[in-house]
Amino acid sequence: MRAQILGLVLIPLAVVAGLVVTERRLPVPEIGRGYVLHVELREVDAPPVLPVVEGDAALPLIVIDAGHGGHDPGASGQGLVEKDLVLSLAKELRDELERLGGFRVALTRSDDRYLLHAERFEIARRLEADMFISIHADSAGDASEVSGASIYTLSEEASSEAAARYAERENASDRLNGLELGDQSDTVMPILIELSQRRSQEQSNELAALIRREGEGVIEFHPQPLRSAALKVLRAPDVPSVLFESGFITNATEARRLSSQEGRRHFAEVMARAIRIYFARQEES
Ligand code: ZN
Repeated sequence: MRAQILGLVLIPLAVVAGLVVTERRLPVPEIGRGYVLHVELREVDAPPVLPVVEGDAALPLIVIDAGHGGHDPGASGQGLVEKDLVLSLAKELRDELERLGGFRVALTRSDDRYLLHAERFEIARRLEADMFISIHADSAGDASEVSGASIYTLSEEASSEAAARYAERENASDRLNGLELGDQSDTVMPILIELSQRRSQEQSNELAALIRREGEGVIEFHPQPLRSAALKVLRAPDVPSVLFESGFITNATEARRLSSQEGRRHFAEVMARAIRIYFARQEES
């Protein structure tokens, strides 16, 4: 009798314990993934919707990524919102590259929608893009005198404290309720990916330097414009990638410039020149 009572208590306990142990080993079925997170967080592993790419497939493909979007406005200041500002810069650059010819261009988003960092560079990877450019604008809070554009490339460890803070803020938009979204890359990385990443890194640095050079006297740069940070959106291991931080919209002069037709044109012309020179060099080598 006593054993039976003990059994009544212990058997269900054992079953529960068994479930806890085995559940960790069972692969989560692909179809069922949705219940783990939540419908509104979207299916992280689902392939992103790819933009239509027109033009000769032999031409280099440049993927332009307007930062933020949808429920994520990014920085704000002087009546401007980053997600809108960077979308108009992205479109200006697309138009300039199409006007010049010799390239194919795709935008990760052409309207006000949210994309995870991983989706942004995954679009570039799936399209087998030759270059990925993410466009952002910054805020300096109450320090309205801070201004100037910067060009970021990826570093494994943030190169300075400022870069680290920047990385923290830009990466935060992939984090929701403490859940890490869209970060599937921090597992073991095969050496081939690392080599590929190293090559992409060199190319990214070259592009960043060209933007700096071509922008001299046209774009107002931050005193230290070439930076590197652990930015998630730059983590495509096989696509040269830079993040162009177009300026501080908390600075009145810069906000006016960036939102003007002339400011957008200057930005697009500088970027397009740098891109042209970059690909001309690639062909030579
Ligand atoms: Zn941003």
